[in-house]
Amino acid sequence: MPFISNYSLKNLNTFGIDVNAKLYVDVSTEADLKDVFASPLVKENKLLVLGGGSNMLFTKDYDGLVLKVNIKGINVIQQGDDVLVTAGAGEVWDILVKYCVAHGYAGLENLTLIPGTVGASPIQNIGAYGVEIKDVLESCTAFEIATGEIKTFSKADCEFGYRESIFKGKLKGKYIITSVTYRLSKIPNLQTHYGAINTELERRGIANPTIADVSNVVAAIRVSKLPDPSTIGNAGSFFKNPVIDQQSFDKLLSNFPDIPHYPAPNGRVKLAAGWLIEQCGFKGMIDGHTGTWKNQALVLVNHGGATGQEVYRFSEKIIETVRQKFGVLLEREVNIF
Ligand code: FAD
Ligand code: NAP
Repeated sequence: MPFISNYSLKNLNTFGIDVNAKLYVDVSTEADLKDVFASPLVKENKLLVLGGGSNMLFTKDYDGLVLKVNIKGINVIQQGDDVLVTAGAGEVWDILVKYCVAHGYAGLENLTLIPGTVGASPIQNIGAYGVEIKDVLESCTAFEIATGEIKTFSKADCEFGYRESIFKGKLKGKYIITSVTYRLSKIPNLQTHYGAINTELERRGIANPTIADVSNVVAAIRVSKLPDPSTIGNAGSFFKNPVIDQQSFDKLLSNFPDIPHYPAPNGRVKLAAGWLIEQCGFKGMIDGHTGTWKNQALVLVNHGGATGQEVYRFSEKIIETVRQKFGVLLEREVNIF
């Protein structure tokens, strides 16, 4: 694993932003990680850990070391009604989902077709269609940058929240996830109430769905609504869904009686960021080389040749317009570098 200077990241971020890393290295084993961290180059440079680059926006060249985690492998470590499956942090997320669905291990089917790697899944507690990583994570192992030791984190240790974890909070920049273990089940507990899953199952005449049916339906809905990063650069939802207090929500509801809303923990209310943005007239808007996706205003896209600065400026315009119309402050979900 040699260190490479001035390395192009264009094909390593799903926005397709054309930037370079001052230094780049990839690691395939925990031993590689130890070797990399023995090098003085690590101490001399700031560090960015890269998975699939599907939750990032580069606004400039990265003036430091980009370390790509390529640790592979999927292993069943315990079989019973519950099944514990461990995957290397560099494993492609959707390959793990397909493996589990094919073997009848239930729990990940609603998370079909999310881009990125296993290692990033606990970082922001990825979620879709009513299921989050916190629902299935048993534990994860991580390389502690300060000591070079491998530590195991239980679900409770991860302090998961809505698109949050301890790795984005007080342990930010301190650990590199090397593997994740998921507790799955041979007895499915299907979650089909969310979004259009039930409607699509009914349309297909499926009354008693299997986990493969749910996975197929989720894949079909996603393909119909989301741009494929291999043809249109994007990083999925650019903003988080805002969660506001009941009093602020009551005020909003009186002005916007059809505002979509969902109960959130601690008596708060979750709003759909995509709806707020759409109501401001942004859906499908083209702004220079960037814009929002025609089928989902929450997704910012690179129509070709966009710079990260351009996308970032467009996101500021959206934040300000939504703030003026609804008094709600959108927070970016995508990591900005
Ligand atoms: P990266 O973008 O490479 O990294 C994300 C963050 O995690 C960075 O801060 C990085 O430093 C850190 N990181 C990555 N790997 C490690 C590691 N091994 N150790 C420590 N830190 C690490 N997300 C959802 O939650 N739900 C969805 O439904 C969803 N749909 C999407 C659809 C599309 C079309 C796209 C493009 C994105 C979507 N996303 C979704 C966002 C994205 O796929 C997820 O956030 C994914 O988990 C990011 O994985 P990654 O490997 O690409 O991470
Ligand atoms: P959607 O089904 O059109 O729903 C719009 C929003 O309403 C979603 O953001 C969702 O919140 C919320 N919602 C819908 N049904 C709900 C319910 N029964 N209970 C609580 N909240 C509900 O959304 P979409 O854009 O097509 O995305 C579908 C799913 O994939 C969502 O879960 C979304 O989070 C996920 N997704 C995530 C990304 C990403 O990059 N993070 C990208 C694409 C899709 P939640 O977002 O909290 O689920």
